[in-house]
Amino acid sequence: MPDRYDAAPKVELHLHLEGAIPMATLWGLIESHGGDPSVPDLSALERRFAYRDFPHFIDTWWWMTGFLRTEDDFTVAAEAVARHLAEQNIVYAEASFSPTDFERHGLTPQQMGVAIRQGLDRVPATRVVLNVDLVRDPGPERAETTLDAVLEVSSEADVRGITIGGSEQDHPPEPFAAVYRRASEAGLRLTAHAGEAAGPESVWGALRSLGVERIGHGVRSVEDPALVDHLVAKEIPLEVCPTSNLRTGVASSWEDHPVHTLLDAGANVTISSDDPTFFHCSVAEEFRKLSRYGGRSMEKMTLAAVEASWLGDVERFELADRVQEWWRGS
Ligand SMILES: [Zn+2]
Repeated sequence: MPDRYDAAPKVELHLHLEGAIPMATLWGLIESHGGDPSVPDLSALERRFAYRDFPHFIDTWWWMTGFLRTEDDFTVAAEAVARHLAEQNIVYAEASFSPTDFERHGLTPQQMGVAIRQGLDRVPATRVVLNVDLVRDPGPERAETTLDAVLEVSSEADVRGITIGGSEQDHPPEPFAAVYRRASEAGLRLTAHAGEAAGPESVWGALRSLGVERIGHGVRSVEDPALVDHLVAKEIPLEVCPTSNLRTGVASSWEDHPVHTLLDAGANVTISSDDPTFFHCSVAEEFRKLSRYGGRSMEKMTLAAVEASWLGDVERFELADRVQEWWRGS
């Protein structure tokens, strides 16, 4: 029986398109490229998504990206992602894609952006706008090239913002300051993964050097009370993905998860699933688990996500109305 967590209109701001491809669609993509001996069947594929730590998660991610090779693969994957979002009553999502992970297949960022948009537009029930993940590991020069390419199709593909994902622990934010400045000048909105695989210094760096408007994850901010105070005072939205942190070993349990410290401190917490296929999670389930800790308002956090979204004023107000109306009637 669906409950109100399933039925409520939901919003997620931190979703990797490649990590949200439903398992059956992913299986189809792997088969269409000749299969892989490490995953003889669908249940073996499901089991492959378990990680020792954050670097092991990145390795698994890299393996999976080997099966998204053509524009058509991206269109098929994006449509399946959007359908799955619609089924979950996720009415608005900001999905990122990571072009540099696929250039080895001969795909350009422009091709990827347009192919993804074609798939997303087949599902009008859910609005999905895109962020481009400039990816830390190949370095800032490569990020500049990717940004240039994406800017050529940003209106056609509805790319609204940038982030940097990848190995945060090895690649601090500061070297990406110039590319962030240029993205901002080009009208893109700014977020960055920070305070996930690295500590508070990474969050400070994203705020001070990159000028981000939101923080992707940010949970390790709790290691620096002055940073938590700053996040609260400035009401900086945090894209918190609790289950993701448990699966990659950033947090040890739901009981001890830093999201509680952040919420208790009054931080501007929004809730997302990050890579729901990789982490076997969903936004509804995140809220269901959070509700066990009392005083956690799903409506409030959904409205915080609407407010922190990259939508324009009119659409943002309409979406907030829709969410409030549902909760009034529930
Ligand atoms: Zn992420």
